Amino acid sequence: MAFTSLGISEALQKTAASLGYTDAYPIQQQAIPAILAGRDVLALAQTGSGKTAGFVLPILERLSGQAPVADRRPRVLVLVPTRELAGQVGEVFKSLSAGLPRRIKIGMVFGGVSINPQMMRLHGTDVLVATPGRLLDLLERKALQLSGVEVLVLDEADKMLNLGFRDEMKQLLALLPGRQQNLLFSATMDGELQAITERLLRNPLRIEI
Ligand code: AMP
Repeated sequence: MAFTSLGISEALQKTAASLGYTDAYPIQQQAIPAILAGRDVLALAQTGSGKTAGFVLPILERLSGQAPVADRRPRVLVLVPTRELAGQVGEVFKSLSAGLPRRIKIGMVFGGVSINPQMMRLHGTDVLVATPGRLLDLLERKALQLSGVEVLVLDEADKMLNLGFRDEMKQLLALLPGRQQNLLFSATMDGELQAITERLLRNPLRIEI
């Protein structure tokens, strides 16, 4: 199925096609219209399913119609378990946003490197891709605020819990506005994650690939 028939604009569809994405994968066929409609989504999907473009495309579609961020309050927060995944997801946002009429600023923050250069780049960030520990550190230093977050993505949520980010996730969720759209992606689902989804997601579309 073509991306345009799912509600994705010509400009984005062209960039996707130039990257070799001609037809939407099954997870994208389900997730894209729901995300564009503002629904919460719970997707049980493995790496390789095309889950990343499944949330990146509708998020970029939404942002392209909005004014740029003029402060340190990102509109979109993507939480990921590892530095590697932060880099990968950030790159997908960057490459898919290349043909849009306005520049979308993508920020990536993760631990294991010095914090100062990351702090200096945060102003005007539309989409922040972050690992939980470094994000909390930046919030404590007042380098950014989460009060403007309109869309939250938890990517590889099971891995985030398995790596021991339980407390950080809880703290971060408490700092969010609460009325944001929530998109949760996970390869597996256990009791603990189930409890988090029940607390966080409102009437989610459930996708299993
Ligand atoms: P992911 O599951 O998000 O890690 O994506 C797996 C791979 O599929 C990545 O290399 C993407 O570039 C690729 N991909 C995602 N969506 C499509 C699509 N609609 N058509 C072709 N390749 C895609």
